Amino acid sequence: MSGFPPIVLRTAADPGESVPVIVVGAGAAGLTAALALRDLGVEVAVLERDPAAQGSTALSSGFVPAAGTRAQQRRGIADSPELFIRDLQAKSKGLAEPHLVHALAHGIGPALDWLAERHGVPFEVVEGFLYPGHSVLRMHGTPRRTGADLMDCLRRAAEEAGADLLTKAHVHALLADAEGRIRGVRIDRPDGSTETLGCRALVLACSGFGGNPEMVRRYIPEMAGALFFGHAGNTGDAVLWGEALGASLRDMSAYQGHGSVATPSNILITWALMMEGGFQVNASAQRFSDENQGYSEQSIAVLAQPGAVAWSIYDQRLHELGLGFEDYRSAVAAGAIKSAATIEGLAAVLGLAPKELAATLAETQDPAVRALPDRFGRRLAGKPPLAAPYYGVKVTGALFHTQGGLLVDAQARVLREDGAPLPNLFAAGGAACGVSGPAVWGYLSGNGLLAAVGLGRIAGLSAAGTAAGAARAPAGR
Ligand SMILES: Cc1cc2nc3c(=O)[nH]c(=O)nc-3n(C[C@H](O)[C@H](O)[C@H](O)COP(=O)(O)OP(=O)(O)OC[C@H]3O[C@@H](n4cnc5c(N)ncnc54)[C@H](O)[C@@H]3O)c2cc1C
Repeated sequence: MSGFPPIVLRTAADPGESVPVIVVGAGAAGLTAALALRDLGVEVAVLERDPAAQGSTALSSGFVPAAGTRAQQRRGIADSPELFIRDLQAKSKGLAEPHLVHALAHGIGPALDWLAERHGVPFEVVEGFLYPGHSVLRMHGTPRRTGADLMDCLRRAAEEAGADLLTKAHVHALLADAEGRIRGVRIDRPDGSTETLGCRALVLACSGFGGNPEMVRRYIPEMAGALFFGHAGNTGDAVLWGEALGASLRDMSAYQGHGSVATPSNILITWALMMEGGFQVNASAQRFSDENQGYSEQSIAVLAQPGAVAWSIYDQRLHELGLGFEDYRSAVAAGAIKSAATIEGLAAVLGLAPKELAATLAETQDPAVRALPDRFGRRLAGKPPLAAPYYGVKVTGALFHTQGGLLVDAQARVLREDGAPLPNLFAAGGAACGVSGPAVWGYLSGNGLLAAVGLGRIAGLSAAGTAAGAARAPAGR
């Protein structure tokens, strides 16, 4: 990693060697943008700082929400962009940018169909449980259900499509003229050398700022000091370049948190366990929240408990559901998942007070309570009661990725503070402002990859048009 902060160098000089479009960052956003460009026959260089293209995408569960896909139709699931828009805006309390909500809800279904049918990314509907806030089954994943698998599919597709993927290429500086037109980038190589590459359009797909503690302190103070569970290379470069170019930033306090990271092993425990009837307690074996609101805001609820930890409690049925997830299987292998024949036995293994845990279980299983919203507003009606043997895992809250970023229009063009687009700069994924509104509670499951894949495709298509226009324009433009 370069020791220099990202900068914008003002220059009107011709940078020399150039490609029509440069994409900075090879996660889901960058690779999807590259595929869209290659489909239009546009030459593209994807510049990735790491030795291998992975990003937060490879760390993720790889689940992308989309409405009206052919995968849904094959499973007989009725969905529409309008219903998806309602779910997105309900979660963000109507505060997500409406033009982005509209563009993504309408664009993501065709984007997944396109990736599946043209580029062989084998998306299928993730079934078995509903993620919080989604009205219907619309989460899509590849067969292994991991972000690493999704990345393998996207990388292979991008290479087959002829995208030029350059790793160990840390973009340090953008070269821009006085009007903010990007002329190229400066790349730091691990051996200390520097290269310059020109372009007619630039796509920023280098994600958010979760890996930049100073920026997290400034924009998301409630998460300063919390475990960051995303990719260390999410250092906020897109935002810092955007600021230097006079770009508008939006929803900088928004993020995806998670209230279920096994501690101390640091392994994600699927929230399906909670959605299907499990519950969380604190060190006093007391519940403290409505687990069904969502795993993102649960990060704050868990971090507010004594020791910033909680215990997820569930049963054999949910343990078997969990075993469908690679992360969960890793947690089992790491010894993080505990079990016992009785709830008192489980309490003893977890270090909780047996009587109190038994009382909390009894309260959550009381049929009268389950029929109604409980004292936290949670409804469990329709879910089978928990039954012995019982399972538990100690968890903490974490920051997964940031959702605020460069404000873009529905064509993924980066907007200045006066609302006008910068001439040839686009952003997608974590680099751009998402559709979660201004806070952690606005994150609807899957909003991260929704913006990466959905805006990635839009950014690629738009950058292709800009690069073609620039090629036709008189010299000097
Ligand atoms: C544990 C976990 C689970 C998650 N699960 C889900 C999920 O199931 N569904 C969902 O929607 N979201 C999920 N997310 C969020 C999701 O991973 C992100 O929103 C998404 O991956 C962002 O994609 P991206 O392409 O914008 O960024 P990334 O995948 O992070 O890619 C950005 C790339 O840019 C590179 N880069 C950065 N700066 C530079 C530079 N200056 N020069 C060159 N390269 C640079 C980085 O090295 C990185 O490879 C999860 C996140 C985590 C941490």
